[in-house]
Amino acid sequence: MEQRFPLTRGSRVVLATKNRDKLEEFRRLLPELDIISLDAYPWVELPPEGDRSFRENALSKARACMRATGMASLADDSGLVVDALGGAPGVMSARYSGQDASDADNLRLLLRNLSEVEPSHRSARFVCVLALVAPEGEWVFEGVCEGEIALKPAGSNGFGYDPVFIPRGSSRTFAEMCPREKDIYSHRARAAFKLKLAMTCGGGLC
Ligand code: IMP
Repeated sequence: MEQRFPLTRGSRVVLATKNRDKLEEFRRLLPELDIISLDAYPWVELPPEGDRSFRENALSKARACMRATGMASLADDSGLVVDALGGAPGVMSARYSGQDASDADNLRLLLRNLSEVEPSHRSARFVCVLALVAPEGEWVFEGVCEGEIALKPAGSNGFGYDPVFIPRGSSRTFAEMCPREKDIYSHRARAAFKLKLAMTCGGGLC
C-alpha cells in the first residue's frame, strides 16, 4: 500500500545540517514548510558522509536526525559529476583535494585534472539528493542540473564549484548569477520542486 506523504503546507520539519547557508537556501526554496534548524536539537550527532552514493549519505543523515528528534527530518547530499573524470569528484566533491580542502583547493584540482580536456568534452552535472525521513516512512527526491566546466573561473557569487559551472541554457557560470537566477537551474531547486509536487500529489507521482 502506498504511504501517505506526511508533509503539507506549514508542516514542521528539521533540516539535518549544521551549515547555515544550506538552511537559508532550503528556507528560500521551500517557504511553505516550517524548517527548523538543528540548533534546536544540540544533542543530534550527524553521521560522517561516506563515499558510496548521494542517496545513502542523504538518507543516513535524515535517519539519524529523525531517530534523535522524533521529528520529520530532511537532509541532502550533493556534488559535481564530471564525465571526462569518470564521474569524479561526485560524492567526494567537498573533499576532492583532501579531508580539510577549501573550495579554492578543490576548484584548482578540478581545473588541473581537466587541463588536457577540450571544450566539447567538458560535460558535467550537479546532483542533489534530498531525503525525507518521517514516522510515516522515507522519501527521496533527486535534482540534476546538466552543464559544462568552463576553461577558467568567472564570477564571485555562490560557493564550491560555482565559478566554473555553466548550466545548460546559459552562457554564464553559477558564480555570475544571483541566488534567484541560480534557482532557475539548480539541482537543489529541482529536488525541492519534486518534494513540493509530492506535497500537492500526496506522495505518489501524478
Ligand atoms: P554537501 O552536499 O554539503 O556534501 O556538499 C558537497 C559539495 O559539492 C560542496 O562542498 C561543493 O563543493 C559541491 N557543491 C554542491 N552543490 C554545489 C553548488 O550548488 N555549487 C557549487 N558547488 C556545489
